[in-house]
Amino acid sequence: MSYRADEEVVGICRDLIRIDSTNFGPQPGPGERAAAEHVAALLDEVGISSEIYESEPKRASLIADWAPEGVDPSAPPLLIHGHLDVVPANADDWTYDPFAGEIADGCVWGRGAVDMKDFDAMLLSVVRARARAGVAPRRPIKLVFTADEEAGGIYGAHWLVDHHRDFFEGCTEAIGEVGGFSLTIRDDLRLYLIQTAEKGIAWLRLIAEGRAGHGSMRNDDNAVTELAAAVARIGQYDWPHKITDAQRAFLDAVSEAFGIELDPDRAEETLAKLGSISRMIGATMSNTANPTMLTAGYKHNVIPGSAEASIDGRFVPGGKDEFLATIDELVGDKIRIEMDTLQPSVETEFSGALVEAMQQCLLAEDPGARAVPFLMSGGTDAKAWDRLGIRCFGFAPLRLPPDLDFVGMFHGVDERVPTESLEFGARVLDRFLATA
Ligand SMILES: [Zn+2]
Repeated sequence: MSYRADEEVVGICRDLIRIDSTNFGPQPGPGERAAAEHVAALLDEVGISSEIYESEPKRASLIADWAPEGVDPSAPPLLIHGHLDVVPANADDWTYDPFAGEIADGCVWGRGAVDMKDFDAMLLSVVRARARAGVAPRRPIKLVFTADEEAGGIYGAHWLVDHHRDFFEGCTEAIGEVGGFSLTIRDDLRLYLIQTAEKGIAWLRLIAEGRAGHGSMRNDDNAVTELAAAVARIGQYDWPHKITDAQRAFLDAVSEAFGIELDPDRAEETLAKLGSISRMIGATMSNTANPTMLTAGYKHNVIPGSAEASIDGRFVPGGKDEFLATIDELVGDKIRIEMDTLQPSVETEFSGALVEAMQQCLLAEDPGARAVPFLMSGGTDAKAWDRLGIRCFGFAPLRLPPDLDFVGMFHGVDERVPTESLEFGARVLDRFLATA
């Protein structure tokens, strides 16, 4: 029986956007329950049963085993995951209501259009089409739709790993965000960036303690002064380049595509040719540490006894020890460092049958496609699956128009995705399920 894998993708994406699943972090929000129930209903309609688990009221994730007749039962299951939550959107800033799922200028507009209700919709469109037509994927599939990715996955992916580890039994590979999108080099060449690595996260708090006193007096042990100096040293520090294997492979591909020699120490200049993606790539050339919050004092004429600053630190795979040592040195011994969050970096090799399948499926839909690995600057649910030893790839295929500021779409105003890109993605994913 024939079927069209991309038939429902646009409609499902719009419907998911209309279900507000904003993640406000520690503040209460609508949760993911309604979105998870919608996904469950879409799966149930084609005979796939699923379970919804709540880590906290309304913080819902969904899991489903999909191993219909015709799969190779001896093959290890493939984990395919998407998160259901989105970051907040302030409607006043947007051209269209961020929770309306409008279609305009050939795009679906709304919060989650690229992060990542787009991929959720591709996956559901493909699975439903195949289930209705009775066309099995090559391998058994573990479908996971998570809560809380946008706040670190504590109530989603990490919670599932802690409480439902059995479900992932036998999984060795996974696909999800962030990656699979195209970067146009020429009419006949598009690089598709596959995430094979992501940076680690170190959220630090600096605490300075000094002598409290009257603001009119001399004070050589002022906590605010001490802290401010340390914050400035961190903020102004020029982190040396540290090129990982994934990054090296990406830079090589870019050099080759442009036919130029690329000096890693001056790579930013070349990367600038790639448009907005250079921001993301630039941030992955080294460790980074940005001061983000300051707290001290309660009255203009009182020197407080302590002062605190928060630092958002990110380290490249293999760069953690050097990162922490550098921070220690920059901070000095008068300030205490507390670690609020420490999450490891994740890295896998860009090789093997799964990678081969990605390249082949992209090529079948885009003759100018060339898959390349890249290191992502942010963190994703891959950090949770990595705890189970699962190799994680960011592969949510999208062929994008050359002029779309795709990176700016992530958490940005007027987030949108071309409908043609969604349909392309569904077709690539469908091929992938047949071969991967
Ligand atoms: Zn995301």
